[in-house]
Amino acid sequence: RSKREGKGTFHFFEPEMDAEMRERRELELELRATDFDRELELHYQPIISLRSGGLRGFEALVRWRNPRRGMVSPAEFIPLAEETGMIDAIGRWVLEEACRRAASWPPDLIIAVNASAVQFRQGRFAQTVSEAIAASGLDPSRLEIEITESVLLADTGANLALLERLKDIGVRVALDDFGTGYSSMSYLRRFPFSRLKIDRSFIRDIGSSRESMAIVRAIIGLGANLGIDTTAEGVETGAQLELLRQERCGEIQGFLFSPPVDSAGALRIIDSYRGDESKVA
Ligand code: C2E
Ligand code: MG
Ligand code: MG
Ligand code: MG
Repeated sequence: RSKREGKGTFHFFEPEMDAEMRERRELELELRATDFDRELELHYQPIISLRSGGLRGFEALVRWRNPRRGMVSPAEFIPLAEETGMIDAIGRWVLEEACRRAASWPPDLIIAVNASAVQFRQGRFAQTVSEAIAASGLDPSRLEIEITESVLLADTGANLALLERLKDIGVRVALDDFGTGYSSMSYLRRFPFSRLKIDRSFIRDIGSSRESMAIVRAIIGLGANLGIDTTAEGVETGAQLELLRQERCGEIQGFLFSPPVDSAGALRIIDSYRGDESKVA
């Protein structure tokens, strides 16, 4: 009897939940069966220095070209990969591919690679990073690992030790989506991050929201006082660019300059900057 009541209670939601779970399960199975070299690819979004007007490098953003579904967004399959333990293999593939690609670029360009919290906490992360560097021959100072504040919430000691290991390897570490997580002020004091990336949600509103502008200004000031570069992500308009320039933001990324492009597109961007260093910004 109680079973029937229980069933009745959820009756309305059941078909929908079923469909959603089945869909996730299917996506998981497809991801498991994926040959990364065939279906995963990296796209690259240029990072522009506002001080020099030049190209600093690119952020690597993973794409899954699923034969049946088309492009699956990382926002969709990275969380799934984290829950199912596949993030280690995907993260390794991303690191290796990104380092190999960057090693073929001019040596003044950096490559930024995102690492998820799950990947970061898993014990072999530093090992994976040094292996990718060794295999590609990339100078470690050209690799920047982007982590979010959420990574730093737990295991203070272990996290700091890992950050120190990465520093010993010679790679940079940036704080991504800065301002959206729990504040990591104490980490800023204890570890020399190379960059703070101001989250797109603040940049979007800087023209219209005094609060967003105040936050962006505060983050840039914080970075300046700590000697850490700031990058604004999601810059889409000339007006946003102008405000960021006035605030002396160091670097920008966004559709205003370029969306993420494939490796051939990255080469074209590199070429266009070789021709004229001060062209875009
Ligand atoms: P993120 O690291 O903060 O990357 C920035 C996201 O903003 C990218 O979305 C990029 O395409 C998008 N974006 C860049 N400029 C603009 C703009 O001007 N306007 C708007 N509206 N969006 C812009 P994407 O590629 O879909 O990636 C989403 C998130 O997925 C990333 O956020 C990152 O957290 C995660 N991700 C991507 N690649 C990887 C990866 O290789 N490994 C891991 N662990 N996570 C990844
Ligand atoms: Mg990022
Ligand atoms: Mg970001
Ligand atoms: Mg973001």
